[in-house]
Amino acid sequence: TRTVEEVLKRADIAMYQAKAAGRNTLRFFDPQMQAEVEARAALEIDLRTSLAQDAFSLHFQPQVGPRDQVLGAEALLRWSHPVRGPVSPGEFIPVAEQSGLIVELGEWVLQQACAQLALWATQPHTAHLTLAINVSVNQFRQADFADKVRQAIMLHGAAPSRLKLEITESMFAHDQESIINKMRHIRSLGVGFSLDDFGTGYSSLSYLRRLPLDQLKIDQAFVREVLTDPNDAAIARTVIALGHSLGLEVIAEGVELQGQRDFLAAHGCDTCQGYLISRPLAITQFEQFVLAHRTSAAAV
Ligand code: C2E
Ligand code: CA
Ligand code: CA
Repeated sequence: TRTVEEVLKRADIAMYQAKAAGRNTLRFFDPQMQAEVEARAALEIDLRTSLAQDAFSLHFQPQVGPRDQVLGAEALLRWSHPVRGPVSPGEFIPVAEQSGLIVELGEWVLQQACAQLALWATQPHTAHLTLAINVSVNQFRQADFADKVRQAIMLHGAAPSRLKLEITESMFAHDQESIINKMRHIRSLGVGFSLDDFGTGYSSLSYLRRLPLDQLKIDQAFVREVLTDPNDAAIARTVIALGHSLGLEVIAEGVELQGQRDFLAAHGCDTCQGYLISRPLAITQFEQFVLAHRTSAAAV
């Protein structure tokens, strides 16, 4: 037997699903749906608690030049759930986005990154490293975001030129003008911008030219098939040529095979990131990695 309340709740869930699918659609309730909604709600509560308890950490994936010299890292968020253990960002970032928690989470990442950069600056073998952090659309849209960046840099005494913000094309879906102005403001602090997952979104050349960027990041989907799919190979080559013609650095991510790296390098993309070089590493392992690759850097 079902209570009225239960029936209404189920109707509500189906309605939200229909709305999420873009309105003017129909959804019937099924228990799977409810299980998903409840799992999400539980995850959101756990995220909130973890944020209060500092249960997140950053891992660092090396970004290297042609001779394996470490130029910097991308910081990737890691969460160890008190019961479930490690939960992948692919699962919890979307929940954080939907619940608005991404703003706080992103602020935590920004603070950590600036603290890390300030520490690196004190060691000769790490002083040159850049650190890229992922910034979500919702975080960037906050009215005080530029201020938050400035404050984090000042608070920790980090060199702004070592900090890079990874943004995606989805950011430019609305209010292009105000987004670009905010980017200019942040860039005037000395902070760099990298356009992440490039090639997957809606890219128009005319707007790309107007963005105050430093780097394009070829999406891993193209890198994955670069040796096997002529279309992806053509896209990768085009992105490299496009980036360079706009005066931007180009980095490839998701590089897993030497053949992929060779192909990219042959077309002018020397900087790469991926399992071929290293998985994302905890800070101690990352610093060991930098030390181990120091000799190749010195030989440049
Ligand atoms: P992303 O920014 O595109 O990050 C790259 C993802 O590819 C990372 O997954 C990384 O571990 C993985 N990866 C690196 N090299 C390879 C490779 O050679 N092969 C394959 N198959 N994968 C590789 P991760 O760490 O699970 O992060 C997933 C996504 O979560 C990120 O995608 C990013 O969108 C989001 N994310 C992670 N950390 C943060 C954060 O601090 N803030 C925000 N807003 N999003 C984050
Ligand atoms: Ca990224
Ligand atoms: Ca990416």
